[in-house]
Amino acid sequence: MAAVLNCLFKSFQWIPVLFINAVIVWSYYAYVLVLCFESVQSPFERAVYLIFYHPFFFMLMISYWRTICASSGLVPSQFFLSRADREALDNGDPKEVLEKISRKLPVFTQTVSGAARYCDICQAIKPDRCHHCSMCRKCILKMDHHCPWVNNCVGFTNYKFFLLFLFYAILYTLYVTATVTKYFIAFWNNSLEGDGKLHVLFLFFVALMFCISLWSLFGYHLYLTGNNKTTLESFRVPHFSYGPNKDGFSLGTAIKNAEQVLGLNKWYWFLPIFTSIGDGVHFPSINQPEQDSLLNDQQRWMEEGELDPQDTHSSDDKQDSITVAIDITSEELVHENEVETQMPYAPRAKPDVLAVQEDDIQDGTAL
Ligand SMILES: [Zn+2]
Ligand SMILES: [Zn+2]
Repeated sequence: MAAVLNCLFKSFQWIPVLFINAVIVWSYYAYVLVLCFESVQSPFERAVYLIFYHPFFFMLMISYWRTICASSGLVPSQFFLSRADREALDNGDPKEVLEKISRKLPVFTQTVSGAARYCDICQAIKPDRCHHCSMCRKCILKMDHHCPWVNNCVGFTNYKFFLLFLFYAILYTLYVTATVTKYFIAFWNNSLEGDGKLHVLFLFFVALMFCISLWSLFGYHLYLTGNNKTTLESFRVPHFSYGPNKDGFSLGTAIKNAEQVLGLNKWYWFLPIFTSIGDGVHFPSINQPEQDSLLNDQQRWMEEGELDPQDTHSSDDKQDSITVAIDITSEELVHENEVETQMPYAPRAKPDVLAVQEDDIQDGTAL
């Protein structure tokens, strides 16, 4: 029974996607077949309308479907607790166990209380900017929000596609509104040719309505991209070992921040191909110079095979690393296909209070 209900619930989640696709396909019919081939009388005007219409249409559809189909970005296996870690978590002090595990991982953000960010559902340390989505039921890398209109989480792997979807949707609706206006006026003057006059009328209203409503959403996401923030981070300031910092991931300029999402090559910025920088786990920062220098020093020590003189847990940690590598369950093997990431030793400030907070676990939002 539970499986049937779950299946029904998952099916219902596709209704908004079907609705948007139905509107886009209908708009194609109304514009191309009704407007251009019935109402537009001039062959030259028809050709110009169709030549400029189709690039907007295809870029919109490709961006939209790439947002829908993109993998939401799985957390690398190193962040998942091993069986030994889970046993230690059950039997020992959770604060110390999680802190010990997270010190081996490249994480700089903490909970408000200074504890390691841990997902109790996925049983994994959360990478920076990663959150658990209650709709997708898994942790999502650089999660922005869960979007019902694409039935997918918008995060590291598809944020560029989502941004381009909004951009091309605005261009598409602007173009349709601009070219249909003349025939919309003709409709009210009773001089419109063709049988599908109501399609032209609705096409104008629908395109205008979407165009106006999408501007605010697109403008907000441009602001977020220019400041290297996610929607979740704009509502909840990320906490670092040195305290909360609303611009903790900003690289200083809007262009540098935009490059993190759109890529270094500006020729690819407007193409729906994945060009975002990074792996969704490591994020450059200009706000943690002290930590970066410490990290580099310790990386150098580890590369030279030297022990960290400040690391009183080094032998324990090494043993744990071996255990993590050997003690891998079949469930964790699913994540072995993820991109291998270097795991530098990341020093963290000692947390004062442990809090695996309920609100930090249920991060799913719907915008
Ligand atoms: Zn999770
Ligand atoms: Zn989600």
